[in-house]
Amino acid sequence: MPTSTLTQFLTLAERMLGKQAILDSLPQRFPYERDANFMLATLPACVVLPSTTAQVQWIVKTCNQLGLSYTARGAGTGLSGGSLAVSEAGIIISFAKMNKLLEINPKEGCAKVQAGLVNAKLNTALAPHGLFYAPDPSSQSACTFGGNWAENAGGIHCAKYGVTTDHTLSLCWVTPQAEIVWSNAPKTVFAPNGLNIRQLLIGSEGTLGLLCEAWVKVLPKPTHVAVAFMAFSSLEAASQAVSAIIQAGINPAALELIDALTVQCVNKAFGVGLPETAQAVLLAELDAFHPEELAYLLTTLQSTIEPFTPLSVETATSPERITQLWKARKGAVASYGNISPAFYVMDPVIPRSKLAETLTEINAIAKRYDLVIANVFHAGDGNLHPHLMFEPTDVEQMERVKQASHEIMHLCVKVGGTLSGEHGIGLEKQGYLHDELSSASIGWMRAVQEAIAPEGLCNANKILPLKGFCSEGGHSHATPTGSSGGGRPLSPSGLASADLWI
Ligand SMILES: Cc1cc2nc3c(=O)[nH]c(=O)nc-3n(C[C@H](O)[C@H](O)[C@H](O)COP(=O)(O)OP(=O)(O)OC[C@H]3O[C@@H](n4cnc5c(N)ncnc54)[C@H](O)[C@@H]3O)c2cc1C
Repeated sequence: MPTSTLTQFLTLAERMLGKQAILDSLPQRFPYERDANFMLATLPACVVLPSTTAQVQWIVKTCNQLGLSYTARGAGTGLSGGSLAVSEAGIIISFAKMNKLLEINPKEGCAKVQAGLVNAKLNTALAPHGLFYAPDPSSQSACTFGGNWAENAGGIHCAKYGVTTDHTLSLCWVTPQAEIVWSNAPKTVFAPNGLNIRQLLIGSEGTLGLLCEAWVKVLPKPTHVAVAFMAFSSLEAASQAVSAIIQAGINPAALELIDALTVQCVNKAFGVGLPETAQAVLLAELDAFHPEELAYLLTTLQSTIEPFTPLSVETATSPERITQLWKARKGAVASYGNISPAFYVMDPVIPRSKLAETLTEINAIAKRYDLVIANVFHAGDGNLHPHLMFEPTDVEQMERVKQASHEIMHLCVKVGGTLSGEHGIGLEKQGYLHDELSSASIGWMRAVQEAIAPEGLCNANKILPLKGFCSEGGHSHATPTGSSGGGRPLSPSGLASADLWI
């Protein structure tokens, strides 16, 4: 971008938004160079922080006039490079100042939130009303609603309650043409009339415009909760137990699987005392509004898993023990710090019936590439999280991590799964979409993207394989363009940053 275009934008933005809403020095821009994905980086030209939807509209209008690419950013906890600037000429629109909880309406069972509100803050505010907002990404103490809408975020309790799209009633959207539009009638719990724009926007990873606020669904919080920890001597037994639990109609609020390596890590980190002989531990949270209902669910759970001969079953009902046991799950990722300085986490989804064979194959891939892979994941909805450990200074090992992650993605698609359950495609996985989707599907998605964002400035070149990619044996390859216009965002070294992984 000619410097004069950026200077022009900065001059106009300072007048419109005030100096405190603009970050343009190198130290100010640097924290926006990455999201939580270690491998991808693009330094933005500048960052702007609007305070109102009208200011967002002004920014989009001005970017269109000047031909500037722009990308929305919430908390930057994304794991697929979605919130990185489109190129070093691109600007970041941070929603950090649009962080208000605007209304709680217990009667209607809904709340109105701004995009920059941190997910967990809504639940803190809802607690005194006996209500909760169900989608709870593990990053919920940092991630924002804007990022959750854009990624259709899931979480531990989504197996029972559904993901972000199931809890969003209507969205206020600044279109790529800088119009402010509500997706549908606010507050209605029914599917919107007409075409379902709301569902199109959710999961679109910021490529179809900027999401500014929404009405979201809030639910009565179950009053009785128990957590069962079930240790198994094999991955097969634990995986079969998962399917049996779902088939028995128990409908656990959460159903998570922790593998043997993770058991060792959390025991060491938190002293939770999980059985170290176990090859897999299942964690099931059951919730209800009556003690009899909870007791019935626990008895049914016990009899359902008996045929799979668990090594041990612990059932906790006291809030203290529940909190301690959840620590084993929620702190699992942090506990990997004991065995590795860094890891690469993936999020493919597979059919539940394929859990055992897929995990066994992932272990074989780890062996083949001489890598350590730990697994802790949402077993209830088949959303895997293989964590591939590596030492960031070991370039050769990182290459093996890259190759192994390719194999894992292909494997998961081959068994009937999908590339991503919650982290999104972003830059990280766009070269794999051809594995999962037909050219016709991708073509129609591109047609929608181009119809809604024809300017090609709104977080462009994310999700869909770039034009000029060819699909070869189910795997896409980049045709290097060497430019930031139609090609990949260039990293500071001039290499295409996403090429690390694709
Ligand atoms: C430790 C850890 C645990 C995680 N656990 C989970 C989990 O359990 N479940 C899960 O789903 N994810 C999880 N994630 C991934 C991540 O937290 C989610 O994708 C989250 O929704 C991102 O929110 P964010 O505010 O950080 O968004 P960002 O990372 O800032 O942005 C993510 C995407 O959203 C877009 N975006 C942000 N705001 C807007 C807006 N206002 N309008 C339009 N587009 C916007 C960005 O352009 C980008 O494409 C985890 C991440 C980490 C680091």
